[in-house]
Amino acid sequence: MSVTDTIVAIATAAGRGAIGIVRLSGPQAFAIAERIAGPLPAPREAALRAFRDADGEGIDQGLVLCFAAPATFTGEDVVELQGHGGSVVLQSLVEAACRHGARVARPGEFSERAFLNDRIDLVQAEAIADLIDAGTRDAARAARRSLDGALSQRVRTLAAALLELRVHVEGALDFSDEDIDWLADRKLHARVETLRTGLQQLLAEAGRGRRLRDGLVVALAGRPNVGKSTLLNRLAGADVAIVTDIAGTTRDVLREHLDLDGLPLTLIDTAGLRDTDDTVEREGVRRARAALDRAELALFVSDAGANLGTGDQALLQSLRADLPRLIVHNKCDLHGLAAAREERDGHVHLHLSAATGDGIDRLVRELHRVAGLGERTQTTFSARTRHVDALRRTLGFVVDAEQRLHEGANAELAAEELRLAHDALGEITGRVTSEDLLGAVFSRFCIGK
Ligand code: GDP
Ligand code: ZN
Repeated sequence: MSVTDTIVAIATAAGRGAIGIVRLSGPQAFAIAERIAGPLPAPREAALRAFRDADGEGIDQGLVLCFAAPATFTGEDVVELQGHGGSVVLQSLVEAACRHGARVARPGEFSERAFLNDRIDLVQAEAIADLIDAGTRDAARAARRSLDGALSQRVRTLAAALLELRVHVEGALDFSDEDIDWLADRKLHARVETLRTGLQQLLAEAGRGRRLRDGLVVALAGRPNVGKSTLLNRLAGADVAIVTDIAGTTRDVLREHLDLDGLPLTLIDTAGLRDTDDTVEREGVRRARAALDRAELALFVSDAGANLGTGDQALLQSLRADLPRLIVHNKCDLHGLAAAREERDGHVHLHLSAATGDGIDRLVRELHRVAGLGERTQTTFSARTRHVDALRRTLGFVVDAEQRLHEGANAELAAEELRLAHDALGEITGRVTSEDLLGAVFSRFCIGK
């Protein structure tokens, strides 16, 4: 793949600012910049220059910075023109660059070139976007770690182990005529197991990394009037849901994106779940059930005075069986009860008051714990659903391969599962290709045959 054109774009945010940067990347970047700014400074040295448009008219004056390929962000020659941050000035610079032969970059094209030129892998390209979009400090820190290669490195290590395994198993296929029973090799079984546990660990960490980015999706559930909307408002610190004492007020599904002490969280307030004849409310109940299906945690709210009565129990039973839940006993103030936490029937029960705020801090801590971010681990990197999915598929194939090997050593099927695992893992960084395998097999197994 050869990239021959030079792209240009405004690199700083739209709107007014003290400084705005126009960035050029490509083989013509230096030549084009020279026609706009005059003689260029040495790479990585700044120089103050007057910027002119294609007709020689002054646009602005500012700093010119040149970066010579290949040690640049994109891997190509890169020039930054730092002018005053008005949109007219920056737009004029882009137009001048285009008149001199550059093309306006597509969204993400600088990162795409960095990927195509092997400066970064797919995970890192995505991490750049995540870093820019990060909603919390922890999310930004995690994105930075991914950009530094924390996730990529782990994936590459596992991919290398997987490659070794494939070489071993496919070798067994090639040499099946010989007397060595390659598949009975105990080292092989140990290797598959190590790979599997490594994948399981990374999958768990990637799940936490994804959560840091997207947040934990929590659905509020409970009978009407128990205080769900009040709790949502309390956590959000603003009046976002309508609170009344008429049962069935919350008819639609409300979503709030919250930053709870560094934990991004999407809280969904659902219509009080109950059988109803009101068609509007019924639609609300249907949407509430759909929202519950996508949630990762149910915050089940009940009235502390009822101590989970039959109505509550029936609702609890109706939740998706595999949906983790926190049971909130609300309105403690009303019943003269103290805020408390207890574990009962395998669930955490929190007694609190959404109205007074008593016990809310404990709820926040509990949500952090559920999200798996109890201690802010320094090793956490950002990850996307795409990565988690790919890891899960990889693990599935490896588990199948392990089974085949244990079963009766059907090498062909095991080899196929491992190939699928390798492909799935390679999707993450966008790097692993079948050539890796060919190269490795060829170099190791071409023993004079
Ligand atoms: P939802 O239908 O479950 O969303 O319940 P709401 O949040 O709309 O609250 C129903 C009623 O209970 C309202 O009058 C609230 O003011 C009241 N309420 C909610 N939480 C508390 C609480 O902790 N203590 C007291 N005393 N009243 C509460
Ligand atoms: Zn409500």
